[in-house]
Amino acid sequence: AELAMYAAKRRQSGSMVYESALDAGSQEALSLLSELRRAIERQELRLFLQPKVDFKTGQVHSAEALVRWEHPERGLVPPMQFIPFAEQTGFIRQLTAWVIEESARFAQQARARGLSLRISVNLSTRDLLDQELPAKIAALLGRHGTDPSMQCLEITESAIMDDPQRALQTLERLSEMGFKLSIDDFGTGYSSLAYLKRLPVNELKIDRSFVMAMERDLDDAKIVRSTIELAHNLGLSVVAEGVETGKAWKLLAALGCDEGQGYFIGRPVPAAQLLDWLPRWKA
Ligand code: C2E
Ligand code: CA
Ligand code: CA
Ligand code: CA
Repeated sequence: AELAMYAAKRRQSGSMVYESALDAGSQEALSLLSELRRAIERQELRLFLQPKVDFKTGQVHSAEALVRWEHPERGLVPPMQFIPFAEQTGFIRQLTAWVIEESARFAQQARARGLSLRISVNLSTRDLLDQELPAKIAALLGRHGTDPSMQCLEITESAIMDDPQRALQTLERLSEMGFKLSIDDFGTGYSSLAYLKRLPVNELKIDRSFVMAMERDLDDAKIVRSTIELAHNLGLSVVAEGVETGKAWKLLAALGCDEGQGYFIGRPVPAAQLLDWLPRWKA
């Protein structure tokens, strides 16, 4: 029933690689789901990482994990073409576990080379509703000797607002265990500031739509500036995503933004590539 509902939803919205499969009915949706399940066994998922740079020191202390699916026929499939489907079908829990384990494996390799990196992983609505998530993450990290403080979890406002009570419980548990928490795509959801105050988060990520527009639109520049102030007033650190130009980089640095992420600094790359790139990095 869930699959049929998803297919119906997709029918009303934009284009996707799998739209036709889903439109054709739940039979094909089911086969896509099994394809996605096999993607883990067949090792078709790829962990990509994108560096975040500290504006003050020019150094890279952290990176965001972004998953890709290297499909034997379709090539490198971007996450927006299968994450929503994974969320609707519940497969996201396995996917999240895979991303966390791979991130921990990467962090271990980085440490072996003397590099200390905090990795951010994206969580979905479903993950937040999973009461066992905190224990699962702790177990995965433990296997690779990663300290919880070196793991950041990114959550969107809309994922929290789906079931705020339950999300808050999960987030509080994660925070108590020492994980860092970040609000992703900040400014695009409808979270109230009162709510934000209650969340045990450490970081805000300004959505890239504001960052990318701020050079030409004064309103966007004002939103970016106010968000940085708001974050700092609440004792949170603030990251700008979508830093595509040197001009944006300078502007953000002048506004006191803590970290930047974007094509100007570095695109998401396969994890192994980041390991080679980091020692040579200079801001
Ligand atoms: P997000 O969490 O907002 O991730 C940032 C997206 O912005 C990434 O797209 C990244 O490649 C892109 N980006 C980075 N710098 C720039 C820039 O300078 N300019 C522009 N235009 N874009 C930039 P990507 O990798 O395609 O991921 C899209 C979304 O898919 C993510 O948005 C996230 O919501 C979701 N996603 C990716 N990996 C995972 C995952 O492992 N788990 C979950 N639950 N969601 C994921
Ligand atoms: Ca993110
Ligand atoms: Ca984001
Ligand atoms: Ca986004």
